[in-house]
Amino acid sequence: MRRFVVATQNPGKLEEIARLLRPIGIEPVSLSQAKVDFSDVEETGSTFMENARIKARAAFKKSGLPSIGDDSGLAVDALNGAPGIYSARYAGEGATNEMRIAKLLRNLQGVGKERRTARFVCAVCCILESGEELCVEGTCEGTIAFEPVGAGGFGYDPIFLMEDGRSFAQLTDAQKDTVSHRGRALRLLEQALREKA
Ligand code: IMP
Repeated sequence: MRRFVVATQNPGKLEEIARLLRPIGIEPVSLSQAKVDFSDVEETGSTFMENARIKARAAFKKSGLPSIGDDSGLAVDALNGAPGIYSARYAGEGATNEMRIAKLLRNLQGVGKERRTARFVCAVCCILESGEELCVEGTCEGTIAFEPVGAGGFGYDPIFLMEDGRSFAQLTDAQKDTVSHRGRALRLLEQALREKA
């Protein structure tokens, strides 16, 4: 199995990326397993892809191993794309998922169902042994609920509704992977890696 460092400190994302990588023959190595100190890596990009690239390059440089950087978030149309690349920091450093969700719902007060459209975006940048970069992006369209529903997943999952009315937090892992932005991005990465082989 090939080993790739996964450049994220978010346990929810790491778990999803790991379960999407293993079936395609890649063993994920966490930053702590690779003994990489990521505390000085700043997400200074202005797009998901720029931030994914910053994380992948930092992990590659610090570990010497092929690396995968992921940057993802939720873009809400009625908020002009917010929280977007600021999804993790939307309610400030140290805030909980519940606080971020509460802030988003507050900012959407008075916005009707038709105008609550949103999408999850996941940019993935993979740096191979040779230093070559493969970058892909996956999206998933949905709407923002009026209140959180479901207990699964992580982050904004309880307020992200699919067309059938279920939230991401009501899906099994396999169901989420089939439709999610991250599942789509990693399937595109799998394809790009296959074309290289
Ligand atoms: P970052 O990519 O580490 O900057 O953080 C992305 C943030 O976007 C996460 O902390 C979550 O709040 C949110 N996010 C990204 N992907 C998902 C998802 O699949 N479900 C729920 N929230 C997500």
